[in-house]
Amino acid sequence: MTKQASLTLKSLHKRYGKVTAVSDVSLDLHAGEITALLGPSGAGKSTLLRLIAGLEYPTSGEISSNGQALSSPKSMIPPEKRGIGLVFQDFALFPNMTAAQNVSFGLKTLSKAETSEVTAKWLDALGIAHRSDAYPHQLSGGEQQRVAIARAIAAKPTAIMMDEPFSGLDPDNRDAVRNVALKAIRAANIPALLVTHDPEEALAHADQIAILENGHLLQTGTPDDLYTHPVSKTVASAFGTLHTLNVSDIPDAWRSILPKTTTTLFYRSEAFQIDVSETARTAKIETMARVGATHRIDATLENGSAITLTDVLGTELQKGDTISITPRPSLFYAF
Ligand code: ADP
Repeated sequence: MTKQASLTLKSLHKRYGKVTAVSDVSLDLHAGEITALLGPSGAGKSTLLRLIAGLEYPTSGEISSNGQALSSPKSMIPPEKRGIGLVFQDFALFPNMTAAQNVSFGLKTLSKAETSEVTAKWLDALGIAHRSDAYPHQLSGGEQQRVAIARAIAAKPTAIMMDEPFSGLDPDNRDAVRNVALKAIRAANIPALLVTHDPEEALAHADQIAILENGHLLQTGTPDDLYTHPVSKTVASAFGTLHTLNVSDIPDAWRSILPKTTTTLFYRSEAFQIDVSETARTAKIETMARVGATHRIDATLENGSAITLTDVLGTELQKGDTISITPRPSLFYAF
């Protein structure tokens, strides 16, 4: 059964004079799921987010929430009536209000008791209940972002748009805040768009990834789909370095297991494993370099072609050694 979309973008276009910032974007966001919008600077990510929030008018196309049009050629619901929650990199809390008052601010339709209850619930879910009475200037960046996300969720938004919300936090803090924030959004069953330029964040934390470049959506799918079945070299490159293997350099034993190509195969350095399976071929290590926890190994196959691989056990190996390697076919691509 296909999942019902909570927020739907249909053939969305946005032009600024001669610049097309968003071009023919169609995307479904589902309740309780995180969609990462991944793309380089200038790809159109912020524009798309502003269109959804109602801060910009689309040139054409439609945005709807559970079947109700938010932006269409005939109607435009203003931002304050859309109920789209926004979370920014710079937290944007009200400086003269405590953490609890920031979260309560958007709950005007609730009674006093309900407001306190909902505020306490989401401050607690974000792990910041103990700082309820603190003002933003008394909170660390990570704590402020926890409050900003509690505020966005507490208001029961139609959807949450997050513009690089974790990239300003230091790495230790980032993981903790991101984990608690995304868990709370999923628990609240809100559709969420996470704008990021960090492919690792998208792969590790999103349910769905949409890749945007020059205003165009290049591919949308689960992290596994995009990593193992990229539709283009551009999409594959978004998730890390690609290496090439010319068709004439492919050992015969691998031709039936690797994707078919008439020119060049692209692969990732983790596309080879060191083992002695039936299809293994030997390679001689030419150079080795430590890259974080792994080693990058440049090697030469028996047929003389150069390959690159990554190995976590590299410490036991050295330049000049002969290794036996087998390809992992799902990490080879033919475009
Ligand atoms: P990203 O958020 O991915 O960095 P943006 O959405 O900010 O990309 O920008 C996409 C393109 O639209 C860029 O070429 C940018 O210069 C252009 N753009 C964005 N906002 C405006 C604007 N208000 N007026 C004119 N051009 C704009």
